[in-house]
Amino acid sequence: MSVYQVIAKKFRPKNFSEVFAQEAIVQTLKNAIRMGRTGHAYLFCGTRGTGKTTLARLFAKAINCKNLGSDQEPCNSCPSCTEITAGHSLDVIEIDGASNRGIDDIRSLNETVSYAASSGKYKIYIIDEVHMLTKEAFNALLKTLEEPPAHVIFFFATTEPHKVLPTILSRCQRFDLRRINPEKIEEKLTAIAQKLEIAIEPAALKLIAHHAEGSLRDAESLLDQLLCYEEPPITREHATKALGLVQNDLFFALDRAVGQYDLAAPFALTNTLFEAGCHLEHFLESLAEHYRTIATVQMGEKPPFPEYATSAKLYSKYHVLETLDYLIGALEKGKQTPFKKIHIEVALLHIIRTSKRIPLESLVERLEKLQKGEAPEPAAPPPKIQPKVAKAPEPPPTPKPAAPVEEVPFFPEKPAPPQSPPAPSAAQPAPPPATIQEKIKQEQVMRFTSVALNGSLKK
Ligand SMILES: [Zn+2]
Repeated sequence: MSVYQVIAKKFRPKNFSEVFAQEAIVQTLKNAIRMGRTGHAYLFCGTRGTGKTTLARLFAKAINCKNLGSDQEPCNSCPSCTEITAGHSLDVIEIDGASNRGIDDIRSLNETVSYAASSGKYKIYIIDEVHMLTKEAFNALLKTLEEPPAHVIFFFATTEPHKVLPTILSRCQRFDLRRINPEKIEEKLTAIAQKLEIAIEPAALKLIAHHAEGSLRDAESLLDQLLCYEEPPITREHATKALGLVQNDLFFALDRAVGQYDLAAPFALTNTLFEAGCHLEHFLESLAEHYRTIATVQMGEKPPFPEYATSAKLYSKYHVLETLDYLIGALEKGKQTPFKKIHIEVALLHIIRTSKRIPLESLVERLEKLQKGEAPEPAAPPPKIQPKVAKAPEPPPTPKPAAPVEEVPFFPEKPAPPQSPPAPSAAQPAPPPATIQEKIKQEQVMRFTSVALNGSLKK
């Protein structure tokens, strides 16, 4: 039985021309080889799965290749190339900085540095996750980096360059690898699917590409997972299920609930979410990501999925930004609360309820206009009765239930159902209002109370 090779390994670039989306770095490395100006230490920084160690291995291959091509591409057939590809070259030493982080590890490395390369011209040390080394280990390494033997080249790879000592940084040529954009990842996945002759919907590949967050290796692993989950032809629904992305449909359902001001929807949505076994923090993170996508669509970017074009129309720009702000706070709170389910319900209710809130700026603007005697543009449904100026004695203070005053006028203008139970504070008859303005205000407060109570009794 042949051993299955995972996609990320099977399609690992064997030439510089196959390296994805890091053209500037590839050009610099190739030029260094062509001009004979190779440095002694290189530092590759970037998020996971962007090709840091792949680039280091390719460079190692190229400088030790016996039949280097005119375009500085390794031949992939000489003994040095085949050994490096297979991962058992004596001249390329790969060290995991996370598990060999102590001073003794670096000391034993220093002892081997002075030995000449066995078959190639150079001896290459690739230290992955170099930021994990201890301070003492870094200092021991510094000693070698200050005066490295001519045949030694160091490659450091890290996801957190700010944790590498400045004295080490200043002795390295630093390259920052970019995150790979989803379109590029999708392109690569399409090519892989074609080579493997797998029938898979483009929408499924698009979903994987977006889920991989700029990491090609993540995308390739997800494709591997999907191929095990379902027999081809693979559809977007398969991808959604295999990646545990139930939320995506939930998000669009939430958008529709916001559009319809459906205050019952959050409870049903949360139930679905819990039955699917979703993680609370992960859900809120994905929800924030969802609103971020809506914000970018509203600012003119192409929607990644057609549903986003519809969703973007259901929100004001102000509401989207407010929601993003709110979700960041909710994420923090969610870490502490033991009431995970209620926390999500409250968050979703908040998003729907605030959809009708008028921005403070526009309220201030309207107040200023009123002050100047201009007529403000109506943002909320205007009152049905035109208040007229009537002089009357000062009325006694009217009792009010605690409700966010700014939201009162923005609730639906439908009359409250008569059978709705009255609120405790509304149970006492209020003193008769003296002016029409007072009357309108009181009516709105009463209506809000009954609407709010009615909503809470339904569930
Ligand atoms: Zn070669």
